[in-house]
Amino acid sequence: MPVEIRLVPCLSDNYAVIVRDPASGAVLVVDAPEAEPIVKALEAAKWNLTHVLVTHKHADHIQGIPALKQRYQAKVIGPRNEGDIPALDEKVSEPDVVKVGSLSARVFDTPGHTAGHICYWFEQEKLLFSADTLFALGAGRAFERPASVLWESLLKLRRLPGDTVVYCGHEYTLANGRFAVTVDPDNAALQARLAEVEKARATGRPTVPSTLAEERATNPFLRADDPAIAAAIGMPGADPAAVFTEIRERKNNFRA
Ligand code: ZN
Ligand code: FE
Repeated sequence: MPVEIRLVPCLSDNYAVIVRDPASGAVLVVDAPEAEPIVKALEAAKWNLTHVLVTHKHADHIQGIPALKQRYQAKVIGPRNEGDIPALDEKVSEPDVVKVGSLSARVFDTPGHTAGHICYWFEQEKLLFSADTLFALGAGRAFERPASVLWESLLKLRRLPGDTVVYCGHEYTLANGRFAVTVDPDNAALQARLAEVEKARATGRPTVPSTLAEERATNPFLRADDPAIAAAIGMPGADPAAVFTEIRERKNNFRA
């Protein structure tokens, strides 16, 4: 039986994602930017939250945890190497497997944005929760580890199957796409995707989720080892980690 999914916009541009396992009735949410919209979505679906899966310590991913835990007595699972996350019942890191009802998710350590950021991969269901490591058409800022470490983390995610459905933590896709074309100007697939994203955002539709195949074809942060990108930014033949570091730096300074 396929899982049921609700994408829940929270705060100004965050997403929480609710997943229900029909076999067991278990219901998880990935990240809790704020409780209220998550509770509303759960009530509308008549679902009872059983698990909260946390990706990293930033306030816009954890603020809703106490209220959800109190209301549902949900079990809260989060990163082992992160620190500063209140109310965790279980700490996980690679290669742990998280069980929720009949579902299981592999944990990837994906340091960079924060030191302890983790991603959850439901292999059977072909779902990846990449939070602030891999965005649609972008990547998180490398706040706590060098950009080269974030690049290694992204390479772990890049090798998953192309039909993996990727849920990231923010609706940043339009700004990401406008930057992406500046470092990968001759990528027709990227241009076509940006046109779709412009259309979606003009009517307020989410651009999340995407697929890993799409990201591999169009996301410059997964393409730092593509000679076309190195050439486009004036670094032909450079090491992919150096190319990645340069595009991360350019994005930090980019204003759409
Ligand atoms: Zn974050
Ligand atoms: Fe965030």
